[in-house]
Amino acid sequence: MKPTCDRPNPPAGFEWLTDAPLENTMNLPVYAGRLLRIHSATNALAKPVVRDEWLSDPNTLILGGGSNILFVAERIDKVLSLANTEYGAIEAGEHIRVYADAGVGLDQWIRWTAAQGWYGLERLAEIPGTVGAAPIQNVGAYGVQLSDVLDSVELWDRQNQEYAVWRPEDCGLSYRHSRFKDEPGRWLILRVWAQLRKVAPADWPPLGYPGLQAEAESCLDPDKRDLKSLTPSELANIVTRVRLQKLPDWRSAEIGSTGSFFQNPIVSMAEAERLRNQWPQIPTYPIPDPAYQKLSAGWLIEQAGWRGKTLGAVGMSAQHALVLVNLGGAKGAELWHLAQQVQSDVWQRFGVRLEPEPLILK
Ligand SMILES: Cc1cc2nc3c(=O)[nH]c(=O)nc-3n(C[C@H](O)[C@H](O)[C@H](O)COP(=O)(O)OP(=O)(O)OC[C@H]3O[C@@H](n4cnc5c(N)ncnc54)[C@H](O)[C@@H]3O)c2cc1C
Repeated sequence: MKPTCDRPNPPAGFEWLTDAPLENTMNLPVYAGRLLRIHSATNALAKPVVRDEWLSDPNTLILGGGSNILFVAERIDKVLSLANTEYGAIEAGEHIRVYADAGVGLDQWIRWTAAQGWYGLERLAEIPGTVGAAPIQNVGAYGVQLSDVLDSVELWDRQNQEYAVWRPEDCGLSYRHSRFKDEPGRWLILRVWAQLRKVAPADWPPLGYPGLQAEAESCLDPDKRDLKSLTPSELANIVTRVRLQKLPDWRSAEIGSTGSFFQNPIVSMAEAERLRNQWPQIPTYPIPDPAYQKLSAGWLIEQAGWRGKTLGAVGMSAQHALVLVNLGGAKGAELWHLAQQVQSDVWQRFGVRLEPEPLILK
């Protein structure tokens, strides 16, 4: 990326660039007309140009690691990214409050907390992206979501130009969803706080997901150690190994993806009953609200014949039916076209609407 010359001597705390390539795990060639990179939120937010010209414009895209965006457009006019990178902890009794700036890598932060021996975030290891984006879809994996440990979120209200601190109940967090998704263009997340434990919870280690128990046993077998003695770091490494057997590596330059492309649909009990009557093998899962059930989007996609199917440079992964992949050189429009075909086939076969998980930027 080359520094711009249209504004000499940018004030401390931020810089901007023109024609800047944008990081994204779909490996698409996308550029920002102008990219504002903020290194110090405090300094940058004190500048009227940042608040008025960039943040109050709802069309300014906030970009983290680009691991949950499908860029159909190849050029975005104004993009803001946070490169603030402080993280740390405050101890209190058997609990510990950890924080990280929005620009910190989520995986980096999680591995640091796990390496300190603190319990709570380890099952979210290996999820790509930044800390600032984690509350947006309430990231989750292996039976845990950010909302289970979230303490608070520091943010900037782009509309009213003011700083705010939200407790988890203000964030409207649910399965892969939040109030931030409902109010696009309004909130800039600056820092995230989580509440972790210094001692293992009673149900430790949480291995009730396919693959975790077997991987944990093979990891501890040489030492004949009790599973209870697993450390948070060891569990983070186990989760990483299991994930890499199924999901494309987000660091890969060969295969691009945004992880799961579709959300697992939530349907009413009556709808679940209708589907079970017609398709007795369909997996349905209870969720906290007893009026609804969760379906497996992967199962629906596989039954519709899309698992492992490719069209040119795009396809649905053979390892994980939910993952839309760029096999090299695809355009965002091709990926979106294939995703819509999958959506349409699942709709026609099952009458179930699949919703994309990533932001689709057209
Ligand atoms: C291989 C792979 C595996 C994945 N596995 C999982 C998984 O197991 N569980 C899961 O939940 N997700 C998963 N994801 C999706 C993704 O990693 C997460 O959603 C992640 O939180 C996105 O972070 P990001 O920084 O890349 O966000 P981006 O993709 O850059 O942005 C996503 C959204 O957040 C907004 N945003 C970003 N930063 C901020 C900010 N500071 N303030 C306000 N808005 C902001 C953007 O505008 C956009 O709307 C996976 C993705 C890949 C590629």
